[in-house]
Amino acid sequence: MYKVTLIPGDGIGPEIVSATRSVIDATGVPIKWEIAQAGQSAVPKYGEPIPQETIESIRKNRIALKGPLTNIVGSGFPSPNITLRQKLDLFANIRHAKSFPGSGSKWDNIDLIVVRESIEDIYSGLEQMIGDDIAIGTKFITRKGSERVIRKAFEYAKEFGRKKVTVSVKANVLKLTDGMFLRVGREIAKEYPEIEFDETIIDALAMHLVREPERFDVIVTQNLYGDIVSDLAAGLAGSLGIGSGSNYGEDGIAVFEPVHGSAPKYADKNKVNPCAEILSGALMLSYLGEKAQSKRVEKAVSEVIAEGKTVTYDLGGDAGTKEMAEAIIQKILKEEV
Ligand code: NAD
Repeated sequence: MYKVTLIPGDGIGPEIVSATRSVIDATGVPIKWEIAQAGQSAVPKYGEPIPQETIESIRKNRIALKGPLTNIVGSGFPSPNITLRQKLDLFANIRHAKSFPGSGSKWDNIDLIVVRESIEDIYSGLEQMIGDDIAIGTKFITRKGSERVIRKAFEYAKEFGRKKVTVSVKANVLKLTDGMFLRVGREIAKEYPEIEFDETIIDALAMHLVREPERFDVIVTQNLYGDIVSDLAAGLAGSLGIGSGSNYGEDGIAVFEPVHGSAPKYADKNKVNPCAEILSGALMLSYLGEKAQSKRVEKAVSEVIAEGKTVTYDLGGDAGTKEMAEAIIQKILKEEV
């Protein structure tokens, strides 16, 4: 029996997390779900969006499946996602952009991985005002932080049979911060001669990605660039509603979550696509060693999207979250493994 911390989160989170739990339970993989709160929904009870109880649950179980968390602008709390990543030292955020037939992609075979450093950079919260009219943010990059995320990208490529790793930053202008990241990339690439190494300036990467996405395989970059590029890649795959992701720390902790946010305007409307959360659940099954069951979930999702009969609005249908999840469950149950 696996023990997994389950975080419903905010906005559409509880609906897509509940749908995902039903889908994973349908595979028969024995999981004891430990529900933990995070996000704005945790504030009334705990007085903060990332309660210590939730951190302890993840530390104990080593693995979590989470819904998106709302970051209220000006609420006084730092971003709950950043706080969670910092408290658990989740330094690598790996986001998948994969198109499925019927997913609305203009491209046939999008299959991109964006590995994003997720502790450092301009997101580390080092901001200050100088008087009323000048705001300063500090870009904070360390050699250790760069090394571990770039190594993670190469290790990921090795484990999943990927052919190429592209390191992408703005080293031509930011010579110290991004320059160091790129130099570290070049050094680490030498340890992986079987994997092709490529370096592309981040703005050029954005242009090449939309013109010839097949040129890229695994992209590794810093926090802010990775946030933007992974949404771009999700758009290339067709919809934010199918982009799955995972976060890794050094001590074996892994937290799985969709690329998209909490889309508050759709909360409690049984409207949004549950697939990004479900596919994140499939990644979790694979991480647990349940590779056949992970593939079974991905295949069921792919078939439901390809049929196009029971899909949500973003994929051109009018099915609700629950109905789409139910269609996926029926596919899973039909195909015993
Ligand atoms: P968002 O991803 O929540 O939503 C943007 C739009 O994308 C939605 O309005 C909707 O049209 C579409 N969309 C998103 N998910 C969808 C789905 N599953 N199915 C169909 N359509 C979907 O981005 P946002 O509006 O910028 O952010 C809302 C909140 O989410 C903010 O508070 C933000 O900070 C937070 N956020 C959290 C995470 C996370 O928890 N990892 C990630 C991104 C944003």
